[in-house]
Amino acid sequence: MQPFTHETLPGRVLFGVGRVDEVPLEAERLGSRRILVITTPSLKNEADALRLALGERAVASWPDARPHVSRADADRARQTAREHQVDGLIALGGGSAIGLAKAVAVDDGAPMVAVPTTYSGSEMTPIYGITEGRRKKTARDERALPKTVVYDPCLTTGLPPAVTASTGMNALAHCVEALYSASPSPLSKLQAVEGASALAGGLTSAVHASEDLDARSEALYGAYLAGAVLAVTGMAIHHRIRHVLGGTFGLPHGPTNSVILPHVVRFNAPAAPEAMKSIADALDVRDAAGGLFDLARDLGAPAGLADLDMSESDLEEAAHLVADGDYYNPRPATQSDVLGLLAAAHVGRRP
Ligand code: NAD
Repeated sequence: MQPFTHETLPGRVLFGVGRVDEVPLEAERLGSRRILVITTPSLKNEADALRLALGERAVASWPDARPHVSRADADRARQTAREHQVDGLIALGGGSAIGLAKAVAVDDGAPMVAVPTTYSGSEMTPIYGITEGRRKKTARDERALPKTVVYDPCLTTGLPPAVTASTGMNALAHCVEALYSASPSPLSKLQAVEGASALAGGLTSAVHASEDLDARSEALYGAYLAGAVLAVTGMAIHHRIRHVLGGTFGLPHGPTNSVILPHVVRFNAPAAPEAMKSIADALDVRDAAGGLFDLARDLGAPAGLADLDMSESDLEEAAHLVADGDYYNPRPATQSDVLGLLAAAHVGRRP
């Protein structure tokens, strides 16, 4: 047994069909009487039902949270919370709604109930980000961690196939990188393998049969575990590449995950054989990189960076920025290694 450090973060998790009905009770448990409900336009009906259930306790609403929390949105949402003397937050939606609620929570310390409706995993982490200009700054703050997370698969049946695939592959990337991170623990490895297996099992059916509650439950359970490992384990080069491609070249977060992950896994394979076996076993395939590529194809995700309109002439600069960063990876990558990886990902070749 190798020495390890494992941090267990506080938090209460409710999981299951119909459990969204318990959200008002959970807010009450936290002592919240004046609640700001933060959501996104695609969840208007669900948010209306929630506000109705909260009654007079729903004192303010924020209906249109956007990705990557701009400084302006964070300031306005904080101002709204202050004006209404809010003492509780409910975030209903994906990482965008939860991210904005985190920006408010770190400002006023109001406890949050998160009700995630995508698979990206933000609800389990104390990490939050605010974007100014083209720079997104992320930080860790215990006040950003939701006090309670309510997972209800019913809320995910309306998630479009493309968002199901992209947020699901995002979750899978958390599990994969946790397995070869600098700081895995036996518990985080168990969670990562179980999470990857549930995601691989649930996502394909969820993409092809949106209303399949068994598949939705399995995928959401995987997303919960993926978020839990993201919260306590360092990540590696995949997250570094995604940060550069999103931040500097404006590539979309989710689809970029699907394209890059198989190539990163192929690159890291010689340095992390045990992790590769765990990933392959979780996906029930012989080869981790090939299996991830095939899964992304099954989910209808884009194959190459060219499909995301990334110009071939930008690859060199992207490789330079990635290699220049300070990040852990089990196999050190030179600029030319990264360029090779990005070139294969650009054309969408099966690794
Ligand atoms: P998202 O919240 O932006 O949602 C994607 C789209 O799906 C939006 O248009 C949304 O309105 C819609 N949608 C969400 N749930 C739906 C549902 N059930 N039915 C129909 N439509 C629905 O996407 P995301 O990928 O979950 O979040 C992205 C943001 O989260 C990014 O800003 C990312 O940086 C952040 N993030 C943060 C962490 C963290 O730990 N801090 C982790 C992962 C992602």
